[in-house]
Amino acid sequence: MIKKNRLSFSAISIEKDAKSSDAGGEPKRDPLPLSKPKSETGYGRKSGIKSSTYQYSKFGKRPGRHAPPRRSPYPDAREGKIPPPSEGVVRIIPLGGVEEIGKNMTAVEIGEDIIVIDAGMHFSTEETPGVDYVIPNTTYLEERKEKIRALIVTHGHLDHIGGVPIVLSRIGNPPVYSRQLSILLMRKRAAEFPQLPKMKENIVEKGETITCGKIKVRFFGVTHTVPDSMGIIIETKHGLIVTPGDYKLDQVDGVVTPEEEKEYAPFDKAKVLLLMTDSTNIENEGYALPEVKVHQGLENLIRRINGRIIIAAFASHITRLAHVVKIAESLGKKVALEGRSMKTNIEVAVEAGYFKPKKGTLIPIEEVNDYPPNRIVILMTGAQGEEFSALNRAANKSHTKFSLHKGDTIILSASIVPGNERAVERMKDGLARQGVHIISYRTPGEDFVHATGHGNKEDVKWLHKKTHPKFFIPIHGNHYRLQLHKDLAMELGMPEKNIIVPDNGSVMEISADGEKITLRREKAPAGLMMVDGISVGDDQDVVIRDRRMLAEDGMFVVIALVDQKTGKLRKSPDLISRGFVYLKENQELLRQVRLIIQKAVEDAASRTPFPDFENIKANLGETVSKFLYQKTAKRPLVIPVILSS
Ligand SMILES: [Zn+2]
Ligand SMILES: [Zn+2]
Repeated sequence: MIKKNRLSFSAISIEKDAKSSDAGGEPKRDPLPLSKPKSETGYGRKSGIKSSTYQYSKFGKRPGRHAPPRRSPYPDAREGKIPPPSEGVVRIIPLGGVEEIGKNMTAVEIGEDIIVIDAGMHFSTEETPGVDYVIPNTTYLEERKEKIRALIVTHGHLDHIGGVPIVLSRIGNPPVYSRQLSILLMRKRAAEFPQLPKMKENIVEKGETITCGKIKVRFFGVTHTVPDSMGIIIETKHGLIVTPGDYKLDQVDGVVTPEEEKEYAPFDKAKVLLLMTDSTNIENEGYALPEVKVHQGLENLIRRINGRIIIAAFASHITRLAHVVKIAESLGKKVALEGRSMKTNIEVAVEAGYFKPKKGTLIPIEEVNDYPPNRIVILMTGAQGEEFSALNRAANKSHTKFSLHKGDTIILSASIVPGNERAVERMKDGLARQGVHIISYRTPGEDFVHATGHGNKEDVKWLHKKTHPKFFIPIHGNHYRLQLHKDLAMELGMPEKNIIVPDNGSVMEISADGEKITLRREKAPAGLMMVDGISVGDDQDVVIRDRRMLAEDGMFVVIALVDQKTGKLRKSPDLISRGFVYLKENQELLRQVRLIIQKAVEDAASRTPFPDFENIKANLGETVSKFLYQKTAKRPLVIPVILSS
């Protein structure tokens, strides 16, 4: 019986009579040798290796099948040279955060000044295999660096600050403005990129006014799951541009607290020209559950539960984490923090003076066994079942410093981010096998253990009514959510012509008389910018495209030795496959491929008076990928390599 060993790459030529090679007197070589330039041919073409990749697809060569070309609702939109805005015009460009949830960034351009709002990131998806994360496209800003007066950041979540260090380094390192905690969180983020220029940070407070070029900007406080979240007010001669960042209302049963009313009071009499706001929870009816209810729920549980309590939450929910520490402390319990982001964020919150745990309240995870179970609360990362998170390692017993005991209670104080369902289920199974009790936000009859940080439909309505804007641009959300948000604005009485649902890169302008909002035909570049290790690439990046294709259907390498003069094959081609089909079991397919290759090479050669190797290679790549697709219904990445002699 043949054992399926994984052969080393250089050993896998399946050509039986490779030794009969007469490649210019060279001995048999590895199937993928480095190109050795040989003498110039009579046709002025260098011999050696030419290679690029092909994949059969109805749409052409790219992209892979899981990523059909994106269809814009504005088919006319195209990238092109965009002239500066005319005198008096307000230009708005979302460079990230629409068509998606994550990597928020919006540019506001008036006259000679550009203000950038937020610079987020989102983590890699199956469309961007292997990259670390994705940031908004900075091309438009890079081309206008000298006009950028400020990066203003609404709050410290990664979808708003995650791209800050790299974005700043690409757009001329303008000054950064935000409230204290957000600045501290950005500092932590920037510390991961010591090679980049130092951030020019400026701490501002709500109520303060700053001047960016000729533009005046003010701030107001908003309620979110991280303290120091702020909304931004940009003054224009036709009224205010208002964008609250992520927010929900501080309300109980639909009654907004006086503190919250105070923050929004300036809008009562103000003339708001444009509102741009979050569409994340536009599908959820009613008001968002107030965080107080979660605080109360967690407090009840911490009081009631007798054994050890392990709370898994987003490390970004600093308000909630701080509250848990305070409750535990008041009940004489010790709190251990586990997970890097959990420790960092608590550290930052303490540094910002946001709360002050007593000495001895926070203990290292190694010491939890020194206390009776009913005196221990552990805050952990990993509520999404992330592979290497603290809770997941505890669930599969691979945590080196901590193990679960029968009688422990796990509180999953988070909703499940779409796409993470299976990981969370697997983790919960692992936890349940260890005899622990699990409480999640879906557990019936339990106290509230989680609330969203984004306003639901009623919060959103309240904001629209409060700000009564003339124009509206829904942001933060994928396209259908933005559309629903538009519908809501129209329900509230706004005429359709005053609303634009943007794509990333849409260039929108409010006319100089303040009476009209229009979408320009040109689009700012908006392709994904991927951060892979220390390099930044765009979404046409060959590396990423190839990774995607390799992950889908593997690869198929054709090495053809072609006679310099006749353009004919000098020997039967070498074939290599990885992750596509097992060659030994597909001899008939290979035989046919060889015939196809021979024909493709000879066809290409016969079309020109002398052999054109580029042409031969292209013909070979296209013919072979098409043939393999017809025979196997797979689309491997086909790499034709032409050796000439
Ligand atoms: Zn947020
Ligand atoms: Zn956000």
